[in-house]
Order: sequence, then C-alpha cells, then structure tokens
Amino acid sequence: MPLRHLVRTTAIGILIALAGCAAVPAGAPSPAGTAPTAFSPAPPSTPAQSSAPPSTTSPSGPAPQPTATGSSRPGTDAPTPKPRDRRTSAQRNRAFTVDGIPVVSKQHPINAGYRRSSISSPYGLTRETQRALTRMIAAARAGGVRLRVRSGYRSYALQAQILSSKIREYGSETLARRYNAAPGRSEHQTGLAVDLWDGVTWGVGVRNTRAGRWLWANAWRYGFILRYPAGKETITGYAFEPWHYRYLGTGPARAFGPNSYRTLEEYLGLAPA
Ligand SMILES: [Zn+2]
Repeated sequence: MPLRHLVRTTAIGILIALAGCAAVPAGAPSPAGTAPTAFSPAPPSTPAQSSAPPSTTSPSGPAPQPTATGSSRPGTDAPTPKPRDRRTSAQRNRAFTVDGIPVVSKQHPINAGYRRSSISSPYGLTRETQRALTRMIAAARAGGVRLRVRSGYRSYALQAQILSSKIREYGSETLARRYNAAPGRSEHQTGLAVDLWDGVTWGVGVRNTRAGRWLWANAWRYGFILRYPAGKETITGYAFEPWHYRYLGTGPARAFGPNSYRTLEEYLGLAPA
C-alpha cells in the first residue's frame, strides 16, 4: 500500500476509533449506559500515604524528582510563585517543565520539532513509559482486568490532520477545537500519554468499566495519573477523559493516589488561583 494511502487510512481509522483525544464531545454516546451523575466530581481527597506500594514495585528507570516546591504541595508552608512558561515560540521544540516534569497543554504547547526522550515499540511511547505500562497491564491482567491500548504516541502532523478532519466533519472550527486538541497541545506527542480501555466500551462510559475503575484506583502505583478528571475542565482545558493516562513516574504519582480528582496543574502549582 502506498505510504500516502496508508497514512490516510491510518488517520481515518484513528478518527473513527478515537473520536480524538482530548476529543470526545460531551454528548458522545456512553455505551455503558451510565447516568451522567455517575461522573459528578467528588471533593478532592488526600491520598493515603500509607497505601503507597513498596519500593520493589517501582518501575525501572529514575522517576522525575521534584527539585522545587509548588504552591499546592502538601507540607508547603508558604505559597511559591506560580511557575512561568518563559519559552519563546522558537523554544517550543522543548516542553515547558516544572520540577523536571514536562507539561504539554493548551497553555503550554510544543511545536513540530519536539523530540521524545526515547522511543519504544509498538506505541511510540518513551521507553520508561512503556516499561511502566507493561507492568501495569500485567498487574491488571493478574487481577482479571483486561487493559488494551487505544492510542499511544501521535505526531504533530497527525494531530493537525485529525483537527482539520474534525473541522470538516463538524463544519465549525470553533466546535472542532472545543473537543479536539490542536497540534502541539496534545500530550500524545510526548510519548508520555496513553489511551486505555477494555476493547469494548469507549467514550465516557470507560469510567464505569472494570478497566476504567481499575485504572483510576491503581494507575498511580505504576506512575500514571488520570490526566483529565471530571469537573476539572477549567483547569486542564479538556473535558473528562477516563481513558487518558499520563506517565509521571511513581514518585510524583504517589501524591495523587487512588481515585484522585487532582490535576497535574494543581500538583505543579499551575492551576488558576
Ligand atoms: Zn489521550
């Protein structure tokens, strides 16, 4: 198959399969038939530090270690200034980082020149992310829960293609941008994010599948966080995505804990006051 055709076919497949990420309209069908109230946010809870896994469960490879204290960290006496993104547009081939943690969002985009720190097969994730993912999937399987990868790395070009297809589909650029990450604004370009599901139920209904429940309760143990929790759209810039998990490393992820509504922005002191 000619490459051009393959690329187009792949992109169309992703459009059909993904509905985009961050890209599922609020009115997207919920195959699990869940009532909207099931997604109502609960007050953020303080993670139980005592439930932290033993160090023997840490994935190989160093986790990003905080080098400074953000304003929202536990144990902080005085608020510290909100970290500022001082990159010029030409410097957006590197991610904005806080405490060594890359942040890619609508507020902190990257450009097409961004390069992942390493690349693994088959999903194009960074090697450390893939190692952690492999461990997490195995742990879920041991518990009788099947996790399947729906999407891993996506390039700047592919994200641009997805958005323009959605603009044509919706007939409205405003609407398309509301539900689809623009190129450079998707975490998938970093190789640190992965969309997971059970292979059956997609959309917000993922939240109430065994896979979705298991992930929300356990992903932090493997260094992943639910990146776009329900009710935090004004902070993250994206609607609730129960399938989108971001790798942070077990150290930072421990601060989130099970079933957390905390956002990366809050953790790093980037959330609006
Ligand atoms: Zn995603």
